[in-house]
Amino acid sequence: MNAGEVSAVALANESLQQIDSQEGEIHAFVEIQREQVLRKAQAIDDGVAQGKNMGVLAGVPLALKDNLCQHGEVTSCASNILSGWRPPYDATVVSRIETAGVLIVGKTNMDEFAMGSSTENSAFGPTKNPHDTTKVPGGSSGGSAAAVAASMTPLSLGSDTGGSIRQPAAFCGVVGVKPTYGLVSRYGLVAFASSLDQVGPFAGSVADAAALLEVIAGHDPKDSTSLNAPAPALSSHLDDGVKGMRVGLCNELLEGCAPDMVAAIKRAAEVLSNAGAEIIEISIPELKLGLSAYYLIAPAEASSNLARYDGVRYGVRVDAEDVTAMNTATRTAGFGDEVKRRIMLGTYALSAGYYDAYYGQAQRVRTLIINAFTKAYSSVDLLLGATTPTTAFAIGDKVGDPMSMYQSDICTIPTNLAGHPALSVPFGVGDDKMPIGAQLLGPALSEQQLFQAASVLEHGANS
Ligand code: GLN
Repeated sequence: MNAGEVSAVALANESLQQIDSQEGEIHAFVEIQREQVLRKAQAIDDGVAQGKNMGVLAGVPLALKDNLCQHGEVTSCASNILSGWRPPYDATVVSRIETAGVLIVGKTNMDEFAMGSSTENSAFGPTKNPHDTTKVPGGSSGGSAAAVAASMTPLSLGSDTGGSIRQPAAFCGVVGVKPTYGLVSRYGLVAFASSLDQVGPFAGSVADAAALLEVIAGHDPKDSTSLNAPAPALSSHLDDGVKGMRVGLCNELLEGCAPDMVAAIKRAAEVLSNAGAEIIEISIPELKLGLSAYYLIAPAEASSNLARYDGVRYGVRVDAEDVTAMNTATRTAGFGDEVKRRIMLGTYALSAGYYDAYYGQAQRVRTLIINAFTKAYSSVDLLLGATTPTTAFAIGDKVGDPMSMYQSDICTIPTNLAGHPALSVPFGVGDDKMPIGAQLLGPALSEQQLFQAASVLEHGANS
């Protein structure tokens, strides 16, 4: 781009054309910003013509999950309760990518308020998996994963509270990264569970994901949980390999997974071993407690965060005889079933008399999990396991059974509870020919090593 070999307008048009040909079937977007993207692309081309450096990602189209605030643009979290709301400010990640020259082409579909694992909980209808449109793309960032998988955009951003970047990345055969908690600013990310939420990239390759993470990472004074750490150097280390790295093949991230999944992850371990890593079989039994702790902590935080949608401050209002009745009518009409379920679960877990038995106990279990990870990372540098127990399931398969839907996150949730980074990198296909994701996990701020190992797996995936 900066050398003038390709124009931003041409890239924007290519992305829009691909969206035009695929979107009818895939439904990755809730809003496409056609005019804005062409205007921005023209401004970048003008800058390049004047010899200006327009940023490291100048002219690269990107799809933005619809829970990230973009000034003046639709930001609905795929919920009716936010319909018509347009944020008066940009999320920090949005300002950072725009400074880097990225072209935001639109907002992507998701499970309402990021609660779900299939993007079927969207108020605007489901997104389909580009590899097989009878299958889900995963969730909650299903639209962002599908946009990249269908070559609509080379990059997208999502959020991961319990697996919502890694799980859809695995189902759609793309790279997805959940950074260390606090590495990427949450300012302008609509809050679901604030102690777990983290923004991260989707991309078609490890190198592209690294380039995007370098742009969005780094301290932000507007987020009180932002780490005082610089963005990690990732791109310059992608070829450093895994020689001497100790990688724990984690029993609990394989147990209960489908046989084709287990076989693929064992092949991934072999690829790392052939590249010089030491593979150590490891068991961390505490990880099995992750799901139950998460489904108390995340709904508890959500019930508090979602209290702000009261018919007064945002989006829709359903009028009634007094304020309390108006609040009730608005929330009854505005929220979908899963969001209501989480609010009720969370409110119950926090209520007087139950607080210590549920929320308090879940927090103690969270500490156990953190301690277990810390102990594991004294004997291994990284962990390897499956991202998901199976490949993508069929649309409609789990909508009537929330517990089985929740179980699709069994391998991804423990990382969020610990605040650690993890990523999913495509590694072969299952018996059904659908993509498989290998998950790499590491201690806080180990992104550089995770990307080195992911790069080895990416090159070895077809060997
Ligand atoms: N699927 C999980 C949930 O429903 C995780 C969602 C997420 O990471 N946002 O809560």
